[in-house]
Amino acid sequence: MTALPFDNSYARLPERFYARRSPTPVAAPRLVRLNRALAEDLGLDPDWLAGPDGVAALAGNSVPDGADPIAAAYAGHQFGQFVPQLGDGRAVLLGEVIDRTGQRRDIQLKGAGPTPFSRRGDGRAALGPVLREYLVSEAMAALGIPTTRALAAVTTGEPVVRETLLPGAVLTRVAASHIRVGTFQFFAARGDVEALRALADHALARHYPEAAEAGNPYRALLERVVAAQADLVARWLHVGFVHGVMNTDNMSVAGETIDYGPCAFLDAYDPRTVYSSIDRNGRYAYGQQPRIALWNLTRLAETLLPLLAEGEDASVAEAEAALATYAPRFEAAYHGGLARKLGLAETRDGDPALAGDLLKRMAENQADFTLTFRALCAAAERPDADAAVRDLFVDPTAYDSWAADWRARRAQEARDPAETAAAMRRVNPAFIPRNHRVEAMIEAAVERDDFAPFATLLAVLARPYDDQSDRAAFAEAPAGGGVGYRTFC
Ligand code: AMP
Ligand code: MG
Ligand code: MG
Repeated sequence: MTALPFDNSYARLPERFYARRSPTPVAAPRLVRLNRALAEDLGLDPDWLAGPDGVAALAGNSVPDGADPIAAAYAGHQFGQFVPQLGDGRAVLLGEVIDRTGQRRDIQLKGAGPTPFSRRGDGRAALGPVLREYLVSEAMAALGIPTTRALAAVTTGEPVVRETLLPGAVLTRVAASHIRVGTFQFFAARGDVEALRALADHALARHYPEAAEAGNPYRALLERVVAAQADLVARWLHVGFVHGVMNTDNMSVAGETIDYGPCAFLDAYDPRTVYSSIDRNGRYAYGQQPRIALWNLTRLAETLLPLLAEGEDASVAEAEAALATYAPRFEAAYHGGLARKLGLAETRDGDPALAGDLLKRMAENQADFTLTFRALCAAAERPDADAAVRDLFVDPTAYDSWAADWRARRAQEARDPAETAAAMRRVNPAFIPRNHRVEAMIEAAVERDDFAPFATLLAVLARPYDDQSDRAAFAEAPAGGGVGYRTFC
C-alpha cells in the first residue's frame, strides 16, 4: 500500500529545474508534533504518519513509495542584491499529493540535509526556528491568511552548529507550490526562455487555470500574482504581521505567506517597526511591506518580458499595465479590511481618513495594535467599554476625540451595535503569536525539552477570534510594549 499517494508534476519538468537529491538520514528521529487535521485534509493517514514508518519518512530516514525527492533551483534578490543561484539549500520536496478539495499540495522536508544548493550551509534547521515556523504558519492559517502549512515537526537527535550547539529538527511544510518570484529569476538570468515558458505554463495550470484561457495568458498570470500579493500584504497589515525577509526568493507565486524566518507581530503600533537583526536599514519594516511587494512583482514582470508580447516596447507596455493594477487592488483590500476592523459595513468617502487618524494616534501613543482593535469591538456595543480602549493610549484623550468621530460615523450604519460587535470580533483577533510567548515557548523546548508551552500556544492560536476567557493571559501585551524585540534567523 502507498501511504502517501504522490503525483509529482514539478519533478516531471525539465532536469534543469532542480537537482534530484534524497534527504540525509538523521541519528534519532522523534516526533514532536503531527498536524492530524491537516493530514486528513491532505488525504493522508495520521496514524501511519505517527507510527515508525511515518516518522522515518518525516525525518528523511526513508523515502516513501512514490516520492521523487528534489531540491528546486531558484535565484533571488536578497535585500535588493541579485543572487543568480540560491535554490533549496536545506529543503527537499518529497512530492505532491492531491488534497480532499482537489488541490495539489507540495510536501517538503525543511532541514533535510545538504543539497547541491547548500553553498556553505549545513542543510539543517534548528529546533527553535522549526517550532516558530510551525506555530506561526498554523496561527496564520487559523487567522484565515493564505500560508504554507506545517504537517509535522521531528527532532533529529543530532546537534546543529550555530553560535552554539542547538538541537536539530525537520519541519514538514505543505504548500500550494514552492514556485517563487526567484524561480522565474533563475531562468531569466540565464536567458532560458524555453524554461521560463514551461515554468509559467506550469504555474498557470496549477494556480490560475482560468487565466491559462485568457487571450494573453502570461499577462493574465502576472495580473493574478499581482492581485494575490496585494491581497496578501493587506491581510498581513490587518493583523500586524512583519514578514521580516521579503526577498524575491521568499515570495510565492501562489500568493501564500512563505518562509517564516525572522517574522514577528506588532505589539505597540508603529509602522517603522523592524524586528530582524539583519534588516539594518528597515527595508522590510511593517509599513514598507506594500511597496516592497510591488518592487518584487516588478522583478517578476521583468522575467516575463520575453513571453508577454512580440518586441520590447509591447512587452514593457503589457508588464506596466499589469503592475498598474497593484496599487488600486492593494488600496481596496487594505481599506476594505480596515473598515471591517472598525465595524463599518457600508462605504463612505471619509472612511480611509478615519482609519488613518486612529492609526496615527495609536502610533503617537504606543497603543498595542491587537488589543486596541479587539477592545474596540466591545466599545462598538457599549459606550462604557471606551475606558478599556483609552487606557491603551499614553494620552487617553487622543482616543476620545477620535472615538467621537467614529461614533458619529457608525450612527450612519443600518446594522445594530450587537451585530457590528460580532462582525468586528470575526476580523479583530484576540490572540496572535505574541513575540514574548513565542520566545518563551522556544526556550522551554530547546533548554528544557518541554513541549507543553508549544502545545498550549498552538491550541490558543487555533481559535484566534474566540474570547477563550480561561486563556486571557495569552492575549496580553508584553511589559514595555515589546520595544527592542529582535529576531535572529
Ligand atoms: P532564507 O533566507 O531562509 O530564505 O534562505 C536563503 C537561502 O539560504 C536559501 O537558498 C536557503 O536554502 C539557504 N539556506 C538557509 N539556511 C541554510 C542552511 N542551514 N544550509 C543550507 N542552505 C541554507
Ligand atoms: Mg527562503
Ligand atoms: Mg528561510
